[in-house]
Amino acid sequence: MSQITKSTCCYCGVGCGVLIEHDGTKVLNVSGDPDHPANLGRLCSKGSTLHLTGDSSARALYPELRLGKTLARSRTDWDTALDHASEQFAQVIAEHGPDSVAFYLSGQLLTEDYFAFNKLVRGLVGTNNVDSNSRLCMSSAVVGYKKALGADAPPCSYEDIEQSDCVLIIGSNMAFAHPVLFRRLEAAKAARPDMQLIVVDPRRTDTAELADIFLPIQPGTDVALCHGLLHILLWEGWIDRAFIETHTEGFDALKTLVRDYTPELVAEICGIKASDLHNVARLIGSTPSFLSLWCMGLNQSSCGTDKVGALINLHLATGQIGKPGSGPFSLTGQPNAMGGRETGTMASILPGHRDPKNAEHRAEVARFWGVDSLPENPGLTAIDLFQAIKDGKIKALWIACTNPAQSLPNQTLIHEALAACPFVVVQEAFTTSETVPYADLLLPAASWSEKEGSVTNSERRISHVRAAVPAPGEARPDWAIAVDFAKRLEQRLRANQPSLFPFQHAEEIFLEHAALTAGRDLDLSGLNYTVLDSQGPQQWPFPQGAAQGTARLYQDRQFATDNGKAKFMASAYEPTVERRDARYELSLMTGRLRDQWHGMTRTGTCARLFSHTEEAVLSLNPRELSRRNLSDGQLVSVKSRRGSLILPVKADDSLQMAQAFLPMHWGGRYLKALGINTLTLGDYDPYSQQPELKHSAITVKPVELP
Ligand code: SF4
Repeated sequence: MSQITKSTCCYCGVGCGVLIEHDGTKVLNVSGDPDHPANLGRLCSKGSTLHLTGDSSARALYPELRLGKTLARSRTDWDTALDHASEQFAQVIAEHGPDSVAFYLSGQLLTEDYFAFNKLVRGLVGTNNVDSNSRLCMSSAVVGYKKALGADAPPCSYEDIEQSDCVLIIGSNMAFAHPVLFRRLEAAKAARPDMQLIVVDPRRTDTAELADIFLPIQPGTDVALCHGLLHILLWEGWIDRAFIETHTEGFDALKTLVRDYTPELVAEICGIKASDLHNVARLIGSTPSFLSLWCMGLNQSSCGTDKVGALINLHLATGQIGKPGSGPFSLTGQPNAMGGRETGTMASILPGHRDPKNAEHRAEVARFWGVDSLPENPGLTAIDLFQAIKDGKIKALWIACTNPAQSLPNQTLIHEALAACPFVVVQEAFTTSETVPYADLLLPAASWSEKEGSVTNSERRISHVRAAVPAPGEARPDWAIAVDFAKRLEQRLRANQPSLFPFQHAEEIFLEHAALTAGRDLDLSGLNYTVLDSQGPQQWPFPQGAAQGTARLYQDRQFATDNGKAKFMASAYEPTVERRDARYELSLMTGRLRDQWHGMTRTGTCARLFSHTEEAVLSLNPRELSRRNLSDGQLVSVKSRRGSLILPVKADDSLQMAQAFLPMHWGGRYLKALGINTLTLGDYDPYSQQPELKHSAITVKPVELP
C-alpha cells in the first residue's frame, strides 16, 4: 500500500515542494506539491524524475577504509571507521595544530547537517577552515548584499515576479537553471502582456527567447553595462533623488565614476547598440516596479562582487527596492546554499550571519556553545584551501556531499591536491562522484527522501524536509555522521567535559540554530518543525511570537547597515582575467543544461535525462565552425592555459563569433580526462573569493585521426 510524504526537491534553489509516493521501503513516484508556495504543484524534468535516479548500484552502502594510499579500500564498520577518523584528526591537530585540518562541504547538505559540522569545526576543532561549494555559487551575491544593504538577505519573494512591471534577468539562464521559477515568469508574462522582460547574456539562451529586449553583451562586461545604464538614468533625470538623499550614501562618488561610461563607450565595450542601452534605461527609469534576477553569470567572476554591486546600484538610484515587484533578487544555485549562509558554515561567516573577523560575534557564539572561544585565524576558502592541501599545509581533509574532483576550476591542481593529502575522508551518497577514489575513508551518507531536516530556498523560505524511506545499506544522515565523529573526537580533545553534541534528532539541531539567530537580521527563532508542519514553509525573518514569515525586506526603507542607509558601490569596470589573444582566440563560457545537475552523480544515473543532451559537446557559432573548416560532430582538441580535452563540436547560433560554450556537468568519469573544469581557471574575486568559472580563453584545433 503506497503512502505520500511531503518533502522538497534536492536539486536547485527554487526549492520546489514534492509529494513522494512510496511503500515504506522504496520511492515509487514523485509529483509536485500543489500546496508548496514555491512551485504550486509544478516540477521540472529533473524534479519529476527524482524517483528514477540513484539506485543502489550507484550508492555508497558501507563504510570503507584503506590504511595506505596504494591499497584498495575495504568494507569496515561504523565504529572502526569513526574511531580511526577521530584518531587521525586528533593526531594531526596535536602535531600540527587545528589549522592543519579542513572541512569542505556542500550547498546540498541540509541546514542541520551544516550546523552540526560548523559546531564541530569551530567549536570543537578550533579552526575556521570550513568552506563549501557555495563558494562557487553565491559568495559574490553574499558580499554584494552585505556591502550594499548591510546583510546577506535577498529582499524579494517569488511573488514579486508576478507583481513586477519590468524584469531584468542578467547572468542567468533561468529557463534551464531554475525551470519552475521560469515557468512562473512565463505564466505571469502571458497573463500581463504589458510586463517587460529584459535579458542580458552573451548567449541567446532559452531564457533570452522570451525577452522583449535582449542584450547580447560580451562576456564579463556587466559592470560597464550597469554603469552605462546609470549614466543614462542620470542624464535623463530618471532617478529617485528623494530616495537617494534619504536612504542611501555614496552616490556622489558613483556619479563621478559613471560620468565616463557614455552610451557610445559602453556600447563598444559590451558589443551592443547604444540605442538598445537607451531603450533599457528608459524602461528601468519609467517602470512602476523593477525586479532584477541574477545567478552565476554575475557571481562566478573575478569581479563578481562589483557586478552585484553595480546591479544593486540601479535599484538604489531608482528607489526600486522594498516594494512589491521590485528589488535585486539573487537566485541561489543549490537547494540549500542559503542554509549554509544562515548557519555560517563557510570560512568567511559565522552562525546567524555573524562575522568571524568580529571579536564580539565570535564571543557571542562561543558563549552560546559553552566553549572558551572561537578561532581567530582566517579560514581557507575553497581555491586557497586546495592550494594549501597541495602545498602540504593541510594534513587531514573531510569532504561531505560535494565533488571537488569535478566541480572546482583548474582540475589538475585539485587532483594533485587530493592525491597529496595524507588523510581524506569522503562522506558521500554516490560512488559516481569523481572524488570518491581519493577517499582513504568513505562514509556512506543518506540522500534525498531518506533524511529529515530543513532547507532554505532563494526567497528565504524554509521547508521541512522529511524522510520517506530508509537509507540503503548502512548509510546514515549527514548530521548524524558529523555528530558521531564529533563525540569521538571530543573524547580525545576535551575528555571529561560535557558533550557539545547532545543531539538525538535533527530538530534539536534546528532549534539550536534558530536560537542562535535571535536578534539577528535573519531571526528565525520563532520557527520549529511543528510551525513548519502546521503553517507550511516560511520565509525568514520569523522571530519569536511572529504569526507568519516576512515576504519582503526593507519595506520601511531601513537597511541593515549601521546607520540604516544603503550604500552605493563605485567600482570601475574590469575585464575578465583571461582575454582572447592570438593563441587562445575564443571565449569559453560554461553553464548548465536543462536536464542535468552539477557533476551528474545523481542525474547521470537516469537514462531519460540524457535524451535532451547525450554528451559533452563544444558549441561554436556556425560561422566560426565554417571559418575553421570544422563540421558538426567533428572531434576537436580544446585547449586552455591549464589543460586540454578532446570533444565533438557543434554549430550553435545562440553564440556570437569568438565565443564557445561547454556544459559544466561532465567530469572525468565520462571524458577519460579530468573533465570540463580542466579548462577553467581558479582566479577569484578579491572580496568573495568566488572563482571566474564563467570565462576562460581557449583555442580549438581539429583532431587528426589516423
Ligand atoms: Fe527541483 Fe529546481 Fe526543478 Fe524545482 S525547478 S523541480 S527545485 S530542479
